[in-house]
Amino acid sequence: MAKKNTCPECGSKQRSGKLPVEIDVAGVKVTDGSVVGPICEQGHYTLSQSELEESERRAALAALTSINGPSGAVLRFARKSIGLRQTDLAVALGAAPETVCRWESNTHIDRQVSLAMAQLLTMYDEQPEQFDLIVRAEQPPLRTEPITVHVVPRRRHSA
Ligand SMILES: [Zn+2]
Repeated sequence: MAKKNTCPECGSKQRSGKLPVEIDVAGVKVTDGSVVGPICEQGHYTLSQSELEESERRAALAALTSINGPSGAVLRFARKSIGLRQTDLAVALGAAPETVCRWESNTHIDRQVSLAMAQLLTMYDEQPEQFDLIVRAEQPPLRTEPITVHVVPRRRHSA
């Protein structure tokens, strides 16, 4: 039984703790400190496939909402993290597949596009039924165009 609590890599004792998971999101290093599991004194740990995938989605979300604005490569990473093809994402975002292709090869993507992608990522985990409907075009796509607000100057009434 003792074998269960020793590291398979170095043989040192394992304890349960926060895993220092670092995900490379298309060149952007994102630390995901939300995974807890067995870790040894040397810092070795292993993630299951599903833990890794969840971590990748969280990292993609963090990279998409980063202050500097994400690149197209981050958008691509995010798309792949939820198993979508460019054509699927095009449907979900109400864009032509060529537009998605162009976004992904750009150095910067529009804020509204990254926000829509972030919304889609969140939906994948929190509202899977809604996510499926949008990807299958059974619900309207997420907005990727900035909202234009027309401000009409108010006419003054004379007293
Ligand atoms: Zn170890």
